[in-house]
Amino acid sequence: MPSYRQMLETAERWREMPAIERVPSGVAITFDDGPDPDCTPPILDALDAAGVKATFFVVGEQLMRHHAIARETAARGHELALHGYEHVEHDSLRPQAARDDLARALGAFEAATGRKPRFFRPPYGRFSEASYDACRHLGMEPVYWSAWGMDWEPIPAERVADLATRDLADGSIVLLHDSTRYGHRPDCGPTADAIGAIAARAAEAGLGVDRLAELGPLGPILSA
Ligand SMILES: [Zn+2]
Repeated sequence: MPSYRQMLETAERWREMPAIERVPSGVAITFDDGPDPDCTPPILDALDAAGVKATFFVVGEQLMRHHAIARETAARGHELALHGYEHVEHDSLRPQAARDDLARALGAFEAATGRKPRFFRPPYGRFSEASYDACRHLGMEPVYWSAWGMDWEPIPAERVADLATRDLADGSIVLLHDSTRYGHRPDCGPTADAIGAIAARAAEAGLGVDRLAELGPLGPILSA
């Protein structure tokens, strides 16, 4: 099991690898911070309209309140993954508190869905060494992103789509959010409205859009 430092070094090497050495895989659109009764349903509808499947990194404390939305997300063909329990920065926690947050999140996920998540993305992308080790120990794969729509800020849909598709390439992992709870914006409209343009630009580039689990082997992608 690689250490956190080894993972970072691997990520650096992965980023420097010529694209041809990576397995062609397509693009993943991912959503953090749900499930959310105001944001998740219109985003599910936008994904249906675009004809693409996505991956939702759910927060344990939201899953406890809105598990029916998570189950509907899965029933509509999307993938559920994990984003922690309390949405705290793991490197601000004592090691045992970070481990407890992951274990509690995993328990909530299994209780709500009857399944184990394959992927884990820490809130704010902030692993600590303890939480990274716990992620691997609990059998999950760490996932970051390669581009974000900056949709935690109040910016229009066109800007979200432009940012999300900047440098779009095979293996890109786009980060968006299906909740306003941990950001600074009033609603999720721009995120839902950007989905069609993001899917269209992927198609123009000859790239499919699918769940993370359907893509080829993933390098541990870090944000730029
Ligand atoms: Zn988050």
